[in-house]
Amino acid sequence: MADRVRAKKSLGQNFLVDPNLQRKIVAAVGASPGDAVLEIGPGQGALTEHLLGTVDHLTLVELDDDLADRLRTRIEDLPGTRLIHADVLKVDLPTELPRWEETRVVGNIPYNITTPILFHLLERPRPREIVLMVQREVADRIVARAGTSAYGALAVGVQSVAEAEFLFPVPRKAFRPVPRVESAVVRITPHAPPRLPKEDERTLRILTRALFQWRRKQLQKTLREHPDLGPLPREVVERIGRDTGFDLTRRPETFPPDELLQLARAIH
Ligand code: SAM
Repeated sequence: MADRVRAKKSLGQNFLVDPNLQRKIVAAVGASPGDAVLEIGPGQGALTEHLLGTVDHLTLVELDDDLADRLRTRIEDLPGTRLIHADVLKVDLPTELPRWEETRVVGNIPYNITTPILFHLLERPRPREIVLMVQREVADRIVARAGTSAYGALAVGVQSVAEAEFLFPVPRKAFRPVPRVESAVVRITPHAPPRLPKEDERTLRILTRALFQWRRKQLQKTLREHPDLGPLPREVVERIGRDTGFDLTRRPETFPPDELLQLARAIH
């Protein structure tokens, strides 16, 4: 897909023009011939060109009309390669991709919808692996450890269902147009099979969202007063403290995901 198109800001179009980085990202996916790969937002094919012909099943999901037309022409004679011209957030991925739980996902995705895309990919059932280019600051938040300022609902949401790894930074000048923010590539490998029952995942999500909305408050205050949690009567909060053995005057960011899970179970 040689000639350039004008980038649409509304679709988060910053095209990766550095061929070494294109190759490095595709290598990070580590796909081999029998594999199924989904690429989100293939754009002008920066990553796609390195994937074509290397795997048995390649699915591309692109929202932009012009780019989808060009991609369709590019792949029309290639067996095992398919384009879904749609908003990825509206695609029922496990239904559309028959080998979804074995699928490796890759994408240089629009930064304004990184979190919704991530949570869409992490709904159950989950794919085998996800390699994404994201804003550097979001990469830091995905892999953040408890006790750091980057740690919050995103870290807990991802790390409670998957392993999260920071792979490498990507400088602004690797893109056209040059974006205002730095980028980085992360690898997210969902636990297979999932470690938590669905119900625990749900309670943990509600608890985490509430706690980090009020991240400056002591945990016991949020448990007693946050509307999404009930709120919980004082005796119940005291019982949770006794059952878990946690000091509930701690702030939420001091609780790693496994301790938040213990809390979620005690609440439930
Ligand atoms: N992969 C290409 C690259 O690395 O140069 C393009 C990356 S660009 C940051 C993001 C791409 O996602 C664009 O092609 C854009 O049109 C597409 N896109 C934006 N919103 C989308 C959505 N909701 N669903 C699918 N693709 C989307």
